[in-house]
Amino acid sequence: MDSLTDFASGKLQALEAQSLRRRLAPTRRLDGLWVERGGRRLLSFSCNDYLNLSHHPAVKRAAAEAALEYGAGAGASRLVTGDHPLLARLEARLARLKGTEAACLFGSGYLANVGVIPTLVGPGDLVLVDQLAHACIWAGAKLSGAEVAGFPHNDVDALAGLLAARRGGARRVLVATDGVFSMDGDLAPLDRLSALCREHDAWLMSDDAHGVGVLAGGRGSTAAFPGAHVPLQMGTLSKAIGGYGAYLCADQPVVDLLKTRARTLVYSTAPPPASIAAALAALDVIEAEPERVAAPLAKARAFTRALNLPPAQSAIVPVVIGEASAALQASRALEDQGFLVVAIRPPTVPAGTARLRVAFTAGHDDADVAGLAAAVRPFLEPRS
Ligand SMILES: *Cc1c(COP(=O)(O)O)cnc(C)c1O
Repeated sequence: MDSLTDFASGKLQALEAQSLRRRLAPTRRLDGLWVERGGRRLLSFSCNDYLNLSHHPAVKRAAAEAALEYGAGAGASRLVTGDHPLLARLEARLARLKGTEAACLFGSGYLANVGVIPTLVGPGDLVLVDQLAHACIWAGAKLSGAEVAGFPHNDVDALAGLLAARRGGARRVLVATDGVFSMDGDLAPLDRLSALCREHDAWLMSDDAHGVGVLAGGRGSTAAFPGAHVPLQMGTLSKAIGGYGAYLCADQPVVDLLKTRARTLVYSTAPPPASIAAALAALDVIEAEPERVAAPLAKARAFTRALNLPPAQSAIVPVVIGEASAALQASRALEDQGFLVVAIRPPTVPAGTARLRVAFTAGHDDADVAGLAAAVRPFLEPRS
């Protein structure tokens, strides 16, 4: 074997030995709720399609019609010839939803975070990141060349200490956090964070991938904290909105700067028309159907009530198991009962906190939620 193959095989073996190797599982999503996997039909609690909009007839039709009208791809980056008319329409719509002057679309959430952060900060600056924030926030922070430090999860006092100690030594400071934490389902205290950031002239950025479409009538986690001022509101089109792509909502000059400098916008092809049209249609549904928007959180709360867990704050409920191998076993046991609840393992979550991450959607009915709670209960009982 040559050294490359050797390296890859050795690495795979080491991961396997720790129950940390991951494998793709071909999955056919039949609708927003049921999936077919390994020849079986399973009820999914692992899709982020909180409103089941990926399979909504009007959303699918909008995507298909946009592909027929504008083509399958954008053809170039936005600054060359890829700025198709749907992009500006969706940007205006998102800015209105988020209450900002403007918005900038990106190809994905990962691309947004690794594009936005290095546009705003660099060497000589400081980025403070919640320790449980999403991997692509960390990636963007590191890529920026600024100094990067984590602060303990949702610990506003610890962040205040860091700002007091280090604000003076940095030219610009960015504080970045998930609005809804992707693996824990809890909310960042955006009201207190924003007050603190203002006090220290630090720029607060929240990633609302799991809040938009779900919280505060669909407007997301920032709107759930009416007093909060979050000047950089990032979010994705890939979860409750049911498609693919992402955005940053901010003041006009910030958006204009991104459109001329963010490397993942300048050097990457514009999102395809179908994705943007799908998002526009999804926002129509979100605005027209408040009961659909309210449903995922209500289901999650029914589940936490049934199991005596702390009340859900979003559509996501973590059931922490501990070791990676035990989480995999629990996931397999649920699958045997017809439920798809994927085990989440390190490094996605800290070592020793492998978990079942349960995601509720508008389409789960009360019996589904009760059935899953009964199936999960044995894994909550103290283990000997
Ligand atoms: C999913 C997710 C992303 C990445 O978004 P994609 O559009 O899937 O690339 C970013 N941030 C958070 C918090 C996420 O959960």
